[in-house]
Amino acid sequence: MHFLIIDAHQDLAYNALTFGRDYRRAAFDTRRSEEGQAVIQRNGQTMLGWPDFQRGQVAMIFGTLFLSPPRHAAEWETQVFRDASVCRALWRGQVEYYHRLAGDNPDLFRLVNNQADARSVFEEWEKAPAVADGKNPISHPVGLTLLMEGAEGIGAPRDLEEWWEAGVRLVGPVWAGERFCGGMLNPGGSFTREGYELLEVMAGLGLTLDLSHMNERSALQALERYEGPIVATHVNARALLRRPDDERHFTDQTIRHLVERDGIQGVLPFGRFLRPGWSPSDESSQTTLDHLLAHIDHICQIAGDARHVAIGSDFDGGWGWPDGPLEIDTIADLQKLAPRLMERGYSESDTAAILGGNWRKFLERTLPA
Ligand SMILES: [Zn+2]
Repeated sequence: MHFLIIDAHQDLAYNALTFGRDYRRAAFDTRRSEEGQAVIQRNGQTMLGWPDFQRGQVAMIFGTLFLSPPRHAAEWETQVFRDASVCRALWRGQVEYYHRLAGDNPDLFRLVNNQADARSVFEEWEKAPAVADGKNPISHPVGLTLLMEGAEGIGAPRDLEEWWEAGVRLVGPVWAGERFCGGMLNPGGSFTREGYELLEVMAGLGLTLDLSHMNERSALQALERYEGPIVATHVNARALLRRPDDERHFTDQTIRHLVERDGIQGVLPFGRFLRPGWSPSDESSQTTLDHLLAHIDHICQIAGDARHVAIGSDFDGGWGWPDGPLEIDTIADLQKLAPRLMERGYSESDTAAILGGNWRKFLERTLPA
């Protein structure tokens, strides 16, 4: 049995433009071609590629526009927002990348800007099983919906209108912090006047707010104030990481408030974010799918149901194979979550919801008609 997967976080444009990764190719082919190259040290071994999306039934991806903040950029990085005009040009380049990927390869990728686009992608996946068994030629287009990860390089909040028109449907205001609100690297920060203005512009446009990378104080402020839909595309449960001051992940209180706002939290299978004490050089700290399942379970226990947790893998987001659970080589292996969830007592419909159904319903509810 296969379930459709929706992955709420992949930095495809950043990787393609920084390292020349070609996501039409299988992850293993890209790995072979990158052997001995610096990209492996800088961003890990890729876990993504279209044939892997097919094998893993990954029907839809939130593709990010991501630029490094100048303060935190490595010297080799090309996608860095030095000022508002550089930022705009680089974001344009990333939007263009997605347009080209879908425009030049309509059988492989399709942009999802509205409900009709989303429906047409899901219909194709449901028409025929997409199992790569050699009998069904695989040709299911993967939907791409655009997510701006970090808006701090923007000129003025109202400039978001340009990005809405370019197809951006979700915005995370912060990555490092502190222009609009407190980020993971500035624990004391909170929403600024300009940050609240940004929220107003976002709500007016109908954008979804992504709380990822916000510190707790700011996430709680946004949950109270923001009038539009709210999610966290790639955040785990802080309680399981035993680092009470780790602002990158949500406290139980934030999770509870997100659930109250009918939001969804995508969890990510990066070793460091799954298990306290994880280190790539310490084999005894290796993670397995059980660690990821524990984060999923934790959120379900707080919510009282399985409707508020989903996946935002962040594969290739500064890490790669083998820094995730032992069982995961490429994204296709996320399907292994399904039997493991059902072993734990999750029903088939709960399992389908966690793998993709929750994001799907969310998109059907929040994308423009
Ligand atoms: Zn991120």
